[in-house]
Amino acid sequence: MADYYELLGVGRNASQEEIKRAYRQRARELHPDTNPDPQAEAQFKQVTQAYEVLRDSQRRQRYDRFGSDGAAAAGADPFGFGGGLGDIFDAFFGGAGGGRGPSGPPRGIDLEVTVEIDFEQAVFGAQEPVTVRTAVVCTTCEATGAAPGTSPQACVECAGTGQVRRVRQSILGQMVTASPCPRCGGAGEIIARPCEDCRGEGRRLEDKTYTVDIPAGVDTGSTLRLGALGAVGPRGGGQGDLYVHVRVRPHDQFQRQGDDLLHELRLPFTQAALGAHLTFETLDGPEDLVIPRGTQSGRVFRLRGRGVPHVQGRGRGDLLLQVAVETPTDLGAEEEDLLRRLAEQRGEEVAPADSGFFSRIRSAFK
Ligand code: ZN
Repeated sequence: MADYYELLGVGRNASQEEIKRAYRQRARELHPDTNPDPQAEAQFKQVTQAYEVLRDSQRRQRYDRFGSDGAAAAGADPFGFGGGLGDIFDAFFGGAGGGRGPSGPPRGIDLEVTVEIDFEQAVFGAQEPVTVRTAVVCTTCEATGAAPGTSPQACVECAGTGQVRRVRQSILGQMVTASPCPRCGGAGEIIARPCEDCRGEGRRLEDKTYTVDIPAGVDTGSTLRLGALGAVGPRGGGQGDLYVHVRVRPHDQFQRQGDDLLHELRLPFTQAALGAHLTFETLDGPEDLVIPRGTQSGRVFRLRGRGVPHVQGRGRGDLLLQVAVETPTDLGAEEEDLLRRLAEQRGEEVAPADSGFFSRIRSAFK
């Protein structure tokens, strides 16, 4: 790509007004509607791209400094030239996601980290610190990679684009091929004296701690994406994303079933038979529980809205209490006497006391 100033035919110190006027004139000459020359359309796109950069003071500064403009890769395409040159570059460099775009330094990589939280934190949400080894901007050279007091020069071979393009004629028409510039290795710029703190990378490694907002309702396997908290790219390249994988420690009282909580409610057989008023400790605090007479093992009591919040959308799941009637195993002499009388009353045949019944049963199973 030719120099943007040359494309517009203005000097490097041209005012915004001069740039605008020059662009209007060039655009009129080259616009495909008025100019039948097949070369004109490509030139029109180049001129427009140059104008897009130079009319924006920030992008112009960047271009002056690096000889290329990172913003051009970001998809700014106000004139509707989606496709065209961009497509050709994407085909060679894997598009925006991978490697280098048409211009500007590549974005940093995405990072991953796993955070382990308590069951209650998953239910109610939490703020948890995570620490990642990441690449941060080198403050010594302010991401330029050049030693303080010096600045990178646009590569003369590729005019700062990082790519060498060749147009050749084939039976299918014009073919444009692009490859990384051999002189600057695709960087688009040459650093004569690299920054000593980052060896010219414009970034360095550092452990960084971020506080992650964990929404209520997450579960093991949930992944949160924190945009632009990944590694920075080399020499001013943008930041990747940070993916936080969630692992939830199990609870000794509750299990999750989607957004419902499950708990085994162990009831003495006297309470199951006679009914009871209990206080049950939910994750939200104590709750009154009425156990009706004659409650059977396996019966489920449902406490609505006492489960896990739906992570997307409103509302919460339920708390399900599944009854398990407990058989006493530690009867005293008096209790055993009471039970034997109860059995007799109900005509239920039970093993006699001290009869060797159990040893006989055991031998039967051998
Ligand atoms: Zn540096």
